[in-house]
Amino acid sequence: MTEGRIIKALSGFYYVQTDEGIIQCRGRGLFRKKKITPLVGDIVLFEKSSNGEGYIKEVKPRKSELIRPPVANIDQAILITSVVMPKFSTLLLDRFLAYIESRNIKPMIIINKIDLATKEELDLIKHYQKAYEKIGYLIELFSAKQPTNMEQIKKHFDNKISVFSGQSGVGKSSILNTLNPSLLLDTAHISKSLGRGKHTTRHVELMKIGNGLIADTPGFSSIDFNDVEEFQLRQLFPEMKKIENQCKFRGCLHHREPACAVKLAIEEGEIAPFRYKHYLEFLQEIQSRKPRY
Ligand code: GDP
Ligand code: ZN
Repeated sequence: MTEGRIIKALSGFYYVQTDEGIIQCRGRGLFRKKKITPLVGDIVLFEKSSNGEGYIKEVKPRKSELIRPPVANIDQAILITSVVMPKFSTLLLDRFLAYIESRNIKPMIIINKIDLATKEELDLIKHYQKAYEKIGYLIELFSAKQPTNMEQIKKHFDNKISVFSGQSGVGKSSILNTLNPSLLLDTAHISKSLGRGKHTTRHVELMKIGNGLIADTPGFSSIDFNDVEEFQLRQLFPEMKKIENQCKFRGCLHHREPACAVKLAIEEGEIAPFRYKHYLEFLQEIQSRKPRY
């Protein structure tokens, strides 16, 4: 059996990247029985048949799984924000960050359109950059229009599968174009072999940027905390999670409890007040949807 990664799924075929190139594979009924649908991003084992096609026999356990776009084994979500148009919002960024943390995926942040920033705006952005770096997040400033640090950005994609994420208009497609990813596949060739180039179902492909793979469709468009419980929210803010065992009460929600290490850390300037404020907002959002007995 041969191992590879599915980089594209189309019309019942899976295109699997292996050391010997891309092999067109079928899923077979096996998956209907086992209720596993192979996803782009999956590592699979397949058997080669005489016609050169492969038959997928096994899907390796997934590290993570996204529904929109349907991709498995995403390592990293690149959160794209912009200085202006739309205006940079730490509330929205923190919402994205917490949501992505809840999906067991590592986030990193790009603040785009710095070419449009005034001196004051840039100073403010740099202030926030420090705040997020202190938490441990990778954060880069960028301009898709005047890129100066492309190689530095590309380095963050190395050896990972990434997905872009962020509000509409922040520059996701522009950044992708600027970084100039290469399609691993000769799509024209595939369309021909299928008889028709038309495909009705929305699909996702992995593209190559430097030494990494990136999904060609952005993810996490709607972000709510519908399936996050209040005690889980604490875990989604790394700077709070780090010290939560220093709170007097186990399961402290860092809200009204006495002797709370998080509140102390805020007083001591170790945790940014704006992050805590957003935490409380999300906490309230989660608590207000709780059923009342
Ligand atoms: P998306 O919706 O996130 O994919 O955003 P787009 O890539 O479509 O960009 C939205 C608009 O912002 C377009 O008009 C782009 O030309 C513009 N834009 C994107 N990145 C930059 C940038 O770095 N600087 C400037 N000045 N404009 C940008
Ligand atoms: Zn606490």
